[in-house]
Amino acid sequence: MTPRVLLLGGTAEARALAGELVGRPDLAVVSSLAGRVRNPALPAGEVRIGGFGGADGLTGYLRASRVAAVVDATHPFASVMSASALAATARAGVPLLVLRRPGWQPAEGDRWHWVSTLADAAHALGDLGERVFLTTGRTGLGTFAGLDRHWFLVRTVDPPEPPMPARMRLLLDRGPYTVAGERALITEHGIDVLVTKDSGGEWTRPKLVAARELGVPVVIQARPLISGAPSVGTVPDAVSWLDRVLGG
Ligand code: NAP
Repeated sequence: MTPRVLLLGGTAEARALAGELVGRPDLAVVSSLAGRVRNPALPAGEVRIGGFGGADGLTGYLRASRVAAVVDATHPFASVMSASALAATARAGVPLLVLRRPGWQPAEGDRWHWVSTLADAAHALGDLGERVFLTTGRTGLGTFAGLDRHWFLVRTVDPPEPPMPARMRLLLDRGPYTVAGERALITEHGIDVLVTKDSGGEWTRPKLVAARELGVPVVIQARPLISGAPSVGTVPDAVSWLDRVLGG
């Protein structure tokens, strides 16, 4: 029987890996998406959409679908899904690999303030400025809702739901972005401070470069720690791992 690979996705890396694996005669791949984004960029090949029902649901899925290996290529901040994958693969005895793009590193001239949570990010804004470029995604905006003194430029892929800051302008965009575009946005809106997660990757890096060039401080949320599974940072390394564990 052709070994079946479950690819937990929602990222550009997951789509790239699906593109590499689809069409290989020695394995079958199914990509899984949470179904959060209205009009998701779909990976090549078979796709399933929606949650599994926690670690128990995923354990049942792995068994019922006879999954031979799982690659967790979810976003670095999708920590519930990653914890679920760790628990379910352990229970079902299925090998798990984490494919995670490396985090961002500050360069000379950067003024980064690392925080652990969005609540800490909201707290850190107090001293840094009143006009905030908020790029932490559409969930968690409520954390900033109580900050009456601040004005927010909020950029999300899909429209957010309340609670959210009272004084804000919403920008719907999914990137990729350019340094020139980000510089123009920061200047046009008189931004004092940028708030972001340490998502990593090139897709959304230009805002950090523009902030450095303009001397704008950045409040950056550190990644949740995930351990317990082997981890790689690139698609070719994920393909090598699959070849090894599937005996290809
Ligand atoms: P999360 O908090 O870790 O997951 C919440 C629940 O959503 C999970 O328990 C699971 O439901 C379901 N889920 C998440 N990823 C899934 C997947 N790939 N396939 C099937 N079900 C999934 O995740 P999140 O932060 O909301 O992210 C949701 C999706 O958006 C992920 O695929 C992630 O890669 C992508 N994404 C997230 C961010 C971010 O900043 N967090 C940014 C860009 C893209 P069950 O418990 O029912 O299985």
